Amino acid sequence: MPLLTDRFGRVHDYIRISVTDRCNLRCVYCMPEEGLKFLPHEKVLSQDEIVDFMKIMVQFGIRKVRLTGGEPLLRTDIVEIVRGIASIPEIEDIAVTTNAMYLAKKAADLKAAGLTRINVSLDSLHEDRFRSITRGGRLQKVLDGIKRAEEVGLFPIKLNVVLIKGQNDDEIMDFLRFTQNKDINVRFIEYMPIGHAGNSWKQKYMSLETIFERIREEGLEFESVESIRGNGPSENYRLSGAQGTFGLIHPVSAHFCANCNRLRLTADGYIKACLYWDEEMNIRPLIQKPDELIELVQKAIDNKPENHEMALKLQDEVTSHQPTWRRMSQIGG
Ligand code: SAM
Ligand code: SF4
Repeated sequence: MPLLTDRFGRVHDYIRISVTDRCNLRCVYCMPEEGLKFLPHEKVLSQDEIVDFMKIMVQFGIRKVRLTGGEPLLRTDIVEIVRGIASIPEIEDIAVTTNAMYLAKKAADLKAAGLTRINVSLDSLHEDRFRSITRGGRLQKVLDGIKRAEEVGLFPIKLNVVLIKGQNDDEIMDFLRFTQNKDINVRFIEYMPIGHAGNSWKQKYMSLETIFERIREEGLEFESVESIRGNGPSENYRLSGAQGTFGLIHPVSAHFCANCNRLRLTADGYIKACLYWDEEMNIRPLIQKPDELIELVQKAIDNKPENHEMALKLQDEVTSHQPTWRRMSQIGG
């Protein structure tokens, strides 16, 4: 069996690296208003450590990487990190997930450094609402960032929309219309109970079945779409005649764990084989010891549970493993 395969035959060829736990926003589903206790700078993996780590991982089959955070574009060396990873010959795809506050400024340099594509988080198309969901974000900056990403060719551009009951579920059709004349993939994501969620999460959670209900109410037609680069766990569709597409990512109501090909690396150097559970392994001391490092990564993969059981949280039922203490901003999504 090749390395980076788990007990259930899942092969891991994709890693999400959180390059910082800091963020310039405080999205309601991700971080508390007062922020969190952020890592001191010396605890965060350096550019060289990240690139050296990736040089080892490609030898064991990792081909795709996503840089995330916190907000990855806050790192002053983000362009250099992208350049370093993109210069590893085995890497086939390097993407960034960003809140886009600094995207307009950095898109051209990121593209020139070898970034393949970009995901932008955007939960409302109304300025005031966007500001309140993100606790301070500026919608126009996101729109400018998307425009700039289009100009420099960071395709396909994907928008991540976390559906929050009572806060943006009346905008489903607006987001779908956004795909009509734009070659963009709008991905609706179910609100996940990561790291802090109590009953307030349940009150805001909505199953993505709602999307189909709204489309039916409007009398619109849509079709299934097979291939979108960097497809991941999203099921994709296209409204009839639309240029862009929309996707559904429903980790809670219909988990996609059977096809999970991903690992996560936290900003302080811990490998997580599953987003939801608390198991994690510190690889930072082993970055210059490739044999030991890969042994530890494989151990994390060997311990990976079959699925995450997030849905049990809806019924307050006991889960088979301990959920992580980390917030989404400390893992990277
Ligand atoms: N700051 C960047 C951004 O917002 O795009 C990257 C990090 S953020 C943690 C990565 C993704 O996780 C974002 O698309 C965000 O919307 C999503 N996310 C955060 N908390 C979530 C939650 N509780 N449920 C579902 N998605 C969440
Ligand atoms: Fe920051 Fe992204 Fe979390 Fe929003 S979702 S608080 S932008 S890390």
